[in-house]
Amino acid sequence: MIQFFNTLSGKVQPFHPLKKNQVKLYTCGPTVYDYAHIGNFRAYLFEDLLKRFLLFQGYRVLHVMNLTDVDDKTIKGARAEGISLKEFTQKYTDAFFQDIDTLNIHRADYYPRATQHISSMVRIIKGLLQKGYAYEKDGSVYYDISKFKDYGKLSKIKMHKLKTGTRIESDEYEKESAHDFALWKYKKEGEPYWETEIGPGRPGWHIECSAMSSQYLGDTFDIHCGGVDNIFPHHENEIAQSEAYSGKEFVRYWLHCHHLIVNGEKMSKSKGNFYTLRDLLERDVNPRVLRFLLLSTHYRKILNFTFEALDQASTSLQRITDFIYNLGHQSFPSGESKDISQLIQNTKQKFISGLSNDLNISQALPPIFEMIRKVNRLIKQKKVYQKDTQNLRTFIHSVDNVLAVLPQEKEESLSSELMEKIKLRQKARKEKNYELADRIRDELYQKGIILEDTKNGVRWKIIKKKK
Ligand code: AMP
Ligand code: ZN
Repeated sequence: MIQFFNTLSGKVQPFHPLKKNQVKLYTCGPTVYDYAHIGNFRAYLFEDLLKRFLLFQGYRVLHVMNLTDVDDKTIKGARAEGISLKEFTQKYTDAFFQDIDTLNIHRADYYPRATQHISSMVRIIKGLLQKGYAYEKDGSVYYDISKFKDYGKLSKIKMHKLKTGTRIESDEYEKESAHDFALWKYKKEGEPYWETEIGPGRPGWHIECSAMSSQYLGDTFDIHCGGVDNIFPHHENEIAQSEAYSGKEFVRYWLHCHHLIVNGEKMSKSKGNFYTLRDLLERDVNPRVLRFLLLSTHYRKILNFTFEALDQASTSLQRITDFIYNLGHQSFPSGESKDISQLIQNTKQKFISGLSNDLNISQALPPIFEMIRKVNRLIKQKKVYQKDTQNLRTFIHSVDNVLAVLPQEKEESLSSELMEKIKLRQKARKEKNYELADRIRDELYQKGIILEDTKNGVRWKIIKKKK
């Protein structure tokens, strides 16, 4: 049984999607005003782990991630660069897609852009005005938080402690300044605006996600994710807008990942500890190692990014890569061992139960490394057979459908005739018939296969394509 910590209930709860075997997932996407930083990628990677695990468990996942291409920050950025909003946001949208591909993040089914969904937003704002949850002031429209009795249920702010009736214009603010927030901002000199039924202007940030999520996933859907900084005001406001408008429950499970910090401090440009993915690639950081590092701390714990931690992640990942490589590049006696199939079964079970426990990666990964250690020991004792190596590789590759950290293996395989030759050479070496052994090695070399004699037996590598 899968369980998640639901920010809404404040508890770990069994996960039951609305429709059996299908999960509707909405994840807040980037505001495309800059290159995404590694903190953003921590959030996207946690969401990727969640999605890949649900797929691994046999769910179909319908995933929507919005692109915020109009808000306070994008408008300011476009103005600073002296280009159109569209040109400005397109640059960072392209960069975003390149980056998620670099990090092997599964693409969502839909990436709706805010600027292309203005009419859905206007429809909701009109509805909120009609129902009395919103009011107009100087051409802008505000949400009256005192009208929504559940306001604060996600972020746990106490409404009675607030002085309501005052307004806030900016999209981002602290809990202490919870106020009526802008749904629609009246047109301003030099800002893009849309002529609509509720007047000329542009949407506030929060209405974007309410409109785009319901358009693609319906009024009620299963999981909504983001970083903890999204809980207030963004997600609190999404709930207020969507539930007041539809009269239905908006989201059933709210999952939030904790922040990434750098060397124990908040990442900030002024401190010089601010890294985009591109900064790290320039320093020759391997994106698979970065992916592994960002995934391997439980999503509800603060993750402290350091270059030492990156080195450790690289060493751990290398252990898995070497393991897979050795299995595929050594010859093993034919047959199968019950111990190994049992070990694979147990490891698989522990991996699944770790991730089922609120995506607890710290519980899911150690059994994999433990298995590798055990198998390596058994290889030395010559207790691993050909069929076992296939089973182990299949298992590790299935685990990697969730982790997505291994290099894409070019399917390298040798014909059984060549495998026989390798065995024959080993036999010759054992019998100290070095002349025959060397002759076979040369023959294989002519065919583009090099042999390495290691402590654990012989390894083979293809160096060029067979003609
Ligand atoms: P933004 O583009 O600022 O709207 O952020 C996109 C996503 O990244 C949101 O889900 C944020 O909560 C998340 N996020 C931003 N900063 C961090 C950070 N330092 N650590 C983890 N997640 C973050
Ligand atoms: Zn959002």
